[in-house]
Amino acid sequence: MYGRKRVLVTGGAGFLGSFLCERLLNDGCQVICADNYFTGSRDNILHLLDNPYFEVMRHDVTFPLYVEVDEIYNLACPASPIHYQFDPVQTVKTSVHGAINVLGLAKRVKAKVFQASTSEVYGDPAVHPQTEGYWGNVNPIGPRACYDEGKRCAETLFFDYHRQYKLNIRVARIFNTYGPRMHPQDGRVVSNFIVQALRGEPVTLYGDGSQTRSFCYVEDLIEGFVRLMAAPDDVIGPVNLGNPGEFTIRQLAELVIEMTGSKSEMVFKPLPQDDPTQRRPDISRAKAQLGWEPTIPLKQGLERTIAYFERKLPEWSA
Ligand code: NAD
Ligand code: UDP
Repeated sequence: MYGRKRVLVTGGAGFLGSFLCERLLNDGCQVICADNYFTGSRDNILHLLDNPYFEVMRHDVTFPLYVEVDEIYNLACPASPIHYQFDPVQTVKTSVHGAINVLGLAKRVKAKVFQASTSEVYGDPAVHPQTEGYWGNVNPIGPRACYDEGKRCAETLFFDYHRQYKLNIRVARIFNTYGPRMHPQDGRVVSNFIVQALRGEPVTLYGDGSQTRSFCYVEDLIEGFVRLMAAPDDVIGPVNLGNPGEFTIRQLAELVIEMTGSKSEMVFKPLPQDDPTQRRPDISRAKAQLGWEPTIPLKQGLERTIAYFERKLPEWSA
């Protein structure tokens, strides 16, 4: 390869995508960000626009894309339940047609291709913590299925392209990740709780708040992405990437209220259908194959995320 590595990031204007574009530019890559701005925003990438090695395309991944690149990170897909359930058919198309289109591109230009898969492929898991060998417990016809099954089918396509066409693939199963640039209204638990606490509004716990999640800070996750892409060719995944620290949703609410110094009360709302009761990654594979593990504990990551929302909220309310 001559010159800078050329990398395509689909969903590059989203929460994770914007951090990934920034990291790749800092690593000396030439980056093309393709996004249809369904949940992403120009604000997320505004600070990168002056970089001559950064290029932005408005593009919907359900349509084919022709660019000459060496690597592709496929992140395009709404990630929060509110957004992926807004237009479930489009969510399935984004995952499945999107995967077919990026895989077709990777095949044509002989690029290495990375899929942002999800812990949702494990559904409401009967195995705890979740290892990559677990096949999952997903309701195929429920309200979360457009996302869960869409992502499962995308994994199938990645592995079929690998077997059938010898494509160089990487599949990461991402567990709940948080940080600055989360969409303030995407309904995800960390952003919801921080925004509610800072505004002094009731903090909404779904169910009794005893369900668990493991929260990974965004910069830790992006390090995992880059390591997986750079790993030897026999390391194709799936690889769990997440922080194995496990918290109940109630513990998270208490921590956010304490850290923001908020007077917000906790209120209890009905638990959404098929909401997984527990989730924690087994990251042995990522440790062994990538030498990766998270370094930023929840409290430290929350401090940075709260500082971001504190700075942004007055702007958004103006
Ligand atoms: P996000 O919603 O902030 O980012 C998704 C991006 O994809 C947005 O910029 C959106 O506009 C874009 N997009 C959506 N549909 C598109 C389409 N058809 N064509 C082009 N662009 C499209 O979400 P995120 O948290 O940054 O998630 C990024 C990826 O990581 C997603 O694939 C998601 O499924 C996966 N993931 C995220 C998490 C997490 O906790 N953040 C967990 C598991 C998996
Ligand atoms: N949740 C909650 N209150 C909120 C938003 C979410 O109690 O205001 C719960 C939700 O029911 C789930 C957990 O927090 O059990 C994580 O939700 P999120 O939407 O962030 O991610 P996912 O369910 O996809 O892991």
